[in-house]
Amino acid sequence: MQYKYLYGPIPSRRLGISLGIDPIPFKTCPLNCIYCECGATTNFTMERKEYIPTQDLLRELDHFMVNNQAPDFITFSGSGEPTLYKDLGMVIDYIHSNFLKTKVAVITNSIMLVDKELCQELMKADLVAPSQDAISEEAYKKIDLPMKDIDITKLTQCLRDFAIEYMQLDSKELWIEIFIVEGINDTDKEINLFIEELKTIPYSRVQLNRLDRIGTMVNLQPASMERLYYIQECFQKGGLNNVEIIGKFKKREEIKSYNQSLEDIIMTCLKRRSTSLEDLLTMTSSTVEDIGKYLDVLGTENKIIQKNIDGEVSYKLFHKKD
Ligand code: SF4
Repeated sequence: MQYKYLYGPIPSRRLGISLGIDPIPFKTCPLNCIYCECGATTNFTMERKEYIPTQDLLRELDHFMVNNQAPDFITFSGSGEPTLYKDLGMVIDYIHSNFLKTKVAVITNSIMLVDKELCQELMKADLVAPSQDAISEEAYKKIDLPMKDIDITKLTQCLRDFAIEYMQLDSKELWIEIFIVEGINDTDKEINLFIEELKTIPYSRVQLNRLDRIGTMVNLQPASMERLYYIQECFQKGGLNNVEIIGKFKKREEIKSYNQSLEDIIMTCLKRRSTSLEDLLTMTSSTVEDIGKYLDVLGTENKIIQKNIDGEVSYKLFHKKD
């Protein structure tokens, strides 16, 4: 069976084996983060609806679980903001009722936590990973480019309210992710704001992330590892526990489920011409998260490079003159 809404499973250092669900069409989100590896948001919205047919998703899940070893986690993520998917809570219930060994994770940009109904659905997840890229409105607007003016104080309050209730439940994990952009959210002022704010939010881990591939803002450079270590140290000295720097898989031998035929399809596409990320997703019937690991490996091995062509992230074969 060819899966349309599932991807992976992907081995993860912290989640074990994780099967992805992508319940949102490319690229639907209330934000347009400058670091987004999917490319620019084309459908700005905060509307929750059934973006994909839920019955089809459940059929795919049933098929996968009957024919494969149960993953440790099923993770909602993918080509947009997964909490926009209206049946999120119902599908979490379905997974918990039918696949007893598997936990559920939801990766979110936090902005939808203003919706109290959604918060109650997220309470059902075993792990929620909300991002909070800035505490000051100025930095938030520069990094996350929200679809409309947002009240960052309210947004942070919503995250805090959610976290307080969620972390009182048994066996829940809340990982707050901060994407570091040098010169915007890594100043001493911003670091101190983070420290004071995060002290008031119950969490399991704070994860510092940085650019790994070309983002929506093409010239954006990744924050240096030195800067991330500095921020980690500041956070720890400021009294925050469990602050870690996220690493990604880079070598093919580190990826247990590496599928050579998918790599071959990618290379065949790129031999013909430069290909946009969106076209690669269509041609390989993959999702951003799934194909990302292959692009990471091929990039690390200097087989392909990223280019910005007419404002779109594209990939091409690497030649020495590049
Ligand atoms: S990184 Fe996530 S929140 Fe930001 S634009 Fe991309 S999909 Fe939306």
